[in-house]
Parts: sequence; structure tokens; C-alpha cells
Amino acid sequence: MSVRVRFAPSPTGQLHVGNARTALFNWLLARGSGGTFVLRIEDTDAERSTRESERTMIDDLRWLGLTWDEGPDVGGPHGPYRQSERQSHYDTAADRLVAAGRAYPCFCTPAMLDADRQAALAAGLPPKYSGRCRELGADEIARRRAAGERPALRFAVPASREVVVHDLVRGDVSFSTDVIGDPIIVRSDGSPAYNFAVVVDDTEMEISQVVRGEDHLSNTPRQVLIYEALGRTPPLFAHLALVLGPDHAPLSKRHGATSVAEFRARGYLPEALVNYLGLLGWSPGGDEEIVSTEEMARRFDVSRVGHSAAVFDVDKLAWINRHYMKAAEPARIARAALPFFERDGRVRAATAAALDYVASILPLAVGSVDRLDEIPARVAFLFAWDAARAAALVGEESEGGRAVAAWADVIETREPLIDRERFRAAAAAARERSGLKGRALFHPLRVALTAEASGPELDLAVPAIERGAALAPDADVAPVPSCLARLRAVAGMTGKA
Ligand code: GLU
Repeated sequence: MSVRVRFAPSPTGQLHVGNARTALFNWLLARGSGGTFVLRIEDTDAERSTRESERTMIDDLRWLGLTWDEGPDVGGPHGPYRQSERQSHYDTAADRLVAAGRAYPCFCTPAMLDADRQAALAAGLPPKYSGRCRELGADEIARRRAAGERPALRFAVPASREVVVHDLVRGDVSFSTDVIGDPIIVRSDGSPAYNFAVVVDDTEMEISQVVRGEDHLSNTPRQVLIYEALGRTPPLFAHLALVLGPDHAPLSKRHGATSVAEFRARGYLPEALVNYLGLLGWSPGGDEEIVSTEEMARRFDVSRVGHSAAVFDVDKLAWINRHYMKAAEPARIARAALPFFERDGRVRAATAAALDYVASILPLAVGSVDRLDEIPARVAFLFAWDAARAAALVGEESEGGRAVAAWADVIETREPLIDRERFRAAAAAARERSGLKGRALFHPLRVALTAEASGPELDLAVPAIERGAALAPDADVAPVPSCLARLRAVAGMTGKA
């Protein structure tokens, strides 16, 4: 049987990383087996579902690279793929259940149900639907409908049965139907409830494996009973343990970032997030930490997913992100980092020259930062450097003033030091001119140019400054003062020029 899996988000907010992991595991299962990955939008909760949320989820899934074969935007043979557009499918299935005596109209009002609940709780019993409307006669049903009452539809759960859910992650889990109240399958406004819609859709979309969060495990016996009542074989199930925060509570806002959009906005690369989420609760065997998506797909096996909850470890994600930042093409990282330069006002528009410049300065930062959003701060000295602080630091060096003057004189007579070779040639000349060498020669240059006592290698920093200073105004990059301008300013302030 060919593998058909689905990711079925409710579009009621951002895509949570726990759900993104669910999407990823489904995707890996499909891609590793030549199967089909379906995206289905579960938007039957009209009050909470929005198109905006659907759009952002689709955007985030695409950004992660989790492409689907069938879905609301790409179509497919089992559409529509939005539950709000599948009403006729639910109506037909509901009619079948009613005709088979497996579902019945329920006229109980919310107030009555609430009173039942309170009474059950007071008596120390699990709250479960009383079954009040189960035995209503056809006449009464007709009379109440005629009087304008709009019933919900409930599924009649068979009494005293053991329902066994065969779960690929958790093994067999059994539930007694005695604790399961008759669930509403169609609300009084005609919209299908989750447990019903999901069965109709998974059946009609020929889903072979349902891989989803453990929070749905307790729904599964209801769904299994509905499959049975519709004369269908349930798919295989795999319930993934929840993603927890460091305090072992489900990962939520108070732990910090929880949505894919937030991680994206903080400068994580999609392949890093995918790599990290893939290893959250699953391991390809061995202790590899860097595993490409293709490799994961090749080795993924849902029965080897752990059943204990997984703690989200931001430090490990950061470490993985650092790896992928180093491995990626500079031009791509420049494009991805550009919004952060724009945010800081260092770049005003994404011109080709700005992108080239950002790509060229990446070696100053990548390797020492965890995220793209940290890059601009690492290279801030290019755009804004504190002349007074630079002069003060130079003043702390015994030969600082002399070194700075020698560097300035040498640089003045040369072409801009836009590459490492020119910088090295200039350094040889400055050594000759000043008679200084080593730290006495280079440290004053560093503090004069960057106003920091430590930082990137000078043979990277100097060319980065000079290339920035040479940019035309239409590059739309904030002004970068040249090395000479910096040295002259510092020399003027230390009064030793
Ligand atoms: N719409 C459900 C959710 O987002 C999907 C559950 C399922 O996969 O069956 O939790």
C-alpha cells in the first residue's frame, strides 16, 4: 500500500514548532517512501480560523522546504483540501450514520450540558454526556425540529467495549468505551466537529498513516469507533510526544519563541530548524547532530520515534544554526541577513552592491555568531565607530600615537587596501617606517579602526572598511569611514599627529 500522510493544521495562529515537527515527520515519511504528503486545512472552527493564519502557515512550511503534493493551493485528486469547503462530504457521512442508527440528534442546550457536568463533578464522576437524547422517538424529534429547535448530532458510542488503538510510537493503547460520552459529530449550526471531520477526510483522502501530536491520542478511540461505524478500516496511528520547555511544561510563549515565524525572524536558517526538529524525539541511529534533510528522509522510521517527551534545547538549535551559516553560500546568507542590516539602518535598500558588500563582510561575523540577526552587531564598527574611545585606547599604548601616524602616512600614499595582499604590503611599509612590529604595530591600528580591544582579524577588517568606504552612494549602504579618515581623526584627538 502506498504511503499517504497528511499534515492537518488548524489555522488559528502561528505555526508552532511542535506542529512543524509533526509536519516534518509526515514529510520525511512520505519522501523516504516515495509516498504522498497532503496538506489539509482544518478550519471548521469558523470563529478562530483565519485565512491570514492559513497563509502564514503555508508560507512557513514552504520556508522550511516541506513541500506537499496535494493541498488547498496545489489541488489534487481528493480535494477540496479545506474543511470549510467539504461540507457536502460531512453531510453525506452524517446521513449514513443516522440511517445506520449510529448517530442521533441531540437537543440539549449548553446550559443543560453544563448543569450535567457540574453534577457529575460534584458526584466525583468523570463528566460525560448523559445520553438524554439517545432514545428520543421519531415523533418528538420531528416535533422539536418543526418548532425550530436545531439539534446537534451525536455519535452513539457502544457500551462496554474495549477499543485498542495500535500506535506505532506507543504500542497498543486501550480505552474503555464506558468512559467515553457520545461525542458531538455535527454542531447545531451544521458544521462538523473535529473527531468526525478528521475521520471523513482521512478516509476519503486515503490516508495510510496518521502522524500527529500526542494531545490527540485520547481522541483516537472515538475516531476508531467512527471508522468502524462507517465500515472503514482505520489508518495506522503514530502519536508524537509533545515538545516541552526546559521546565518540562509544554513549550509555550513563556519559554520564549515558539513559532516558526519567530525563529525565522530571529535569524535561524530553515535547514537548521529542520535538522534540529528532525532530531527532536527521533534519531537516525548513532550520535550525529548534523543530518541533511535528504539523509533524514532516507533513514526516517516512525516506529523509532521515542515516546518520551522532548525538551526543546535552544542552545543546540543555535549550535546547529551556526554550522549551517558557515556551510551556506555567502550570497544566500547575505540575502537572508539583509533584513537585519536594514533594520539597523546599515543598508537602506537591497541593491546588488549592498548584497555584494554584505556577502563580502560575512567572514568577519559568521563563525562567531549563532544567528543571522547577530551579524550586524559584529560588524557595527564598519559604520559607526567611536572616535573618542578609539583615541583613548590608542593613548593607552606606549607607542600608540607613533604607530597610528605611521599607518596613516603609509595608507595615504597607497591605493585603498581593499584586499589582504595590499594590507600586508602596507603593513610591511608601516613596520619599516615606524620601526615597530608585532603587537606594538598592530594593536594601535586595531583600536584606532574599531574602537575595540579585540575583534575580527585585521587582514579581514581593513579590506572590509576600505571596500565599504569605496561604495558609491547609490549602493544604499550607510557611510563607512575609510581607514585613513579614522586614523587621521584619532591622530588629531591624541594630539600626536
Ligand atoms: N487540526 C488538528 C490540530 O491542529 C489536527 C489533528 C490531526 O492531525 O488529526 O491539532
